[in-house]
Parts: sequence; C-alpha cells; structure tokens
Amino acid sequence: MSYNHLLLDLDGTLLPMDMQEFLNAYLQAVSTWMAPYMAPDRFLKCLLASTRVMIEDQDPRRTNEEVFWDDFIPRTGLGKDKVVPVLERFYREQFPKLAPVARPTPIARAICARALELGAQLVIATNPIFPRIAIEERLRWAGIAGIPFRLVTTYENMHSCKPKQEYYRQILDYIGAKPEDCLMVGNDPAEDLVAQDLGITTYLVLDCLVPRDGTQRRPDYQGRLADLPGFLEAKLGEKRNAAAN
Ligand SMILES: [Mg+2]
Repeated sequence: MSYNHLLLDLDGTLLPMDMQEFLNAYLQAVSTWMAPYMAPDRFLKCLLASTRVMIEDQDPRRTNEEVFWDDFIPRTGLGKDKVVPVLERFYREQFPKLAPVARPTPIARAICARALELGAQLVIATNPIFPRIAIEERLRWAGIAGIPFRLVTTYENMHSCKPKQEYYRQILDYIGAKPEDCLMVGNDPAEDLVAQDLGITTYLVLDCLVPRDGTQRRPDYQGRLADLPGFLEAKLGEKRNAAAN
C-alpha cells in the first residue's frame, strides 16, 4: 500500500494545541473585538448558531462562506458591509496574537517536506469553518507556510465541513484522487476518521487526541506525530522502490 495523497489535519495534528483552549481564546477575542457592535454574549450565540448551520448545510451550489453569512446577517441584524471589514481586521490584527496557545513542532515541516520529496501531494484538510486568512495564519504558527499544498480547505472554497462524508468526497473531487490512494491524518476520531466511510485509510495522531466517548471508529493506524515520518518513509518509500525496480 502506498499513498499519492496525504490529507493532513492542522489543529491538534500538524499544529499541536489543546483545541478547547484555542477555541476559548478565539471566541473570547472575537467577541471582545465585536463588542462595539453587539453584546459579546449575544455575538457568541449568533456566531455558534450560524457555524452550526454552515456545518449542517452541504448544498454544493453554496460555499460555507455564503451559507454562514446568509444565516448570520439576518440573525444578528448587522449590516454585512459594516461587519465584514471589521472581522477582516480582527483576523489581520488580533487573531495572530492567539499564537501562544499553539505548541508548534519542527516535525510538521519535516513531514511535509519529506512527503513531497517522496512524490506525495499534500492537502491541508482542516475543518473549513474559518476564512483563508485565519487558516494561513495557523499554517505560519505551524511553520508550514509556503509549502506547495495541492489544496488547503477553507470556508471560501468548500461547501461542506467535517464530520460530513461530503467534506472528504469534495476533497477527492477537487484533487482528482481515488480514496485508496489517500491517507487521512488527524487527531479527532469523530471528525477525521469519517474519511474511512469513503475508503480512505486513516492515521490517528495521539499527541493532542480529542476525547470522544461515543465513537466506535478505529483508525487503520495510530501513533505519535513523531512516529509519522518513519511511517511515511516506509509507506511512501515502498512506492519509490517499486518504481525504481
Ligand atoms: Mg484536529
């Protein structure tokens, strides 16, 4: 078995962090930033409600971004012309200050660089509930900005979210790959192992494992992030050796 495509989760996988700590810090920062326009409690309720609507909606004709705003604007009564630039400024000026919640490791860049050398194509398969600017910022935190990814899933280019199968189907369509040629690497059994339903092999990274009581899913492989380079060397190396013979 060898894999031409690596689908790599970001938060808690390539970018070690406590997801709950990150979300709390983010929600606190964004609601404080928006306080001149809306009471923080109400803003948070609306943000989370519209995010849920975005995650549930899988209509291929509407991007996650479109679904979010079509729900958020009527829900809040805020003018879109007014709120969009304010949020953009949040992501430019305030979001980078959340970097200390992450615990980046040089292993992330080593994995990407070596996988590319071994001929794999890379996808950043992070849940596309954030705009590109916020995902690119976290790629910088992880030390992997500038890597030639085939695809980075963002709320602008996707119409589906984890944990929906459709999210993985959309990635396969986008990169023109068969499920059996892909390996999904992630830290969340409920969100990342759904890729199995399409026949994608899964590798669960245990460093920042998201605890999920209800899930019956078992990964095909699991290990620490530090084990992944050796795993990929063996799996991707097989292909190269086969090609050389
Ligand atoms: Mg994750």
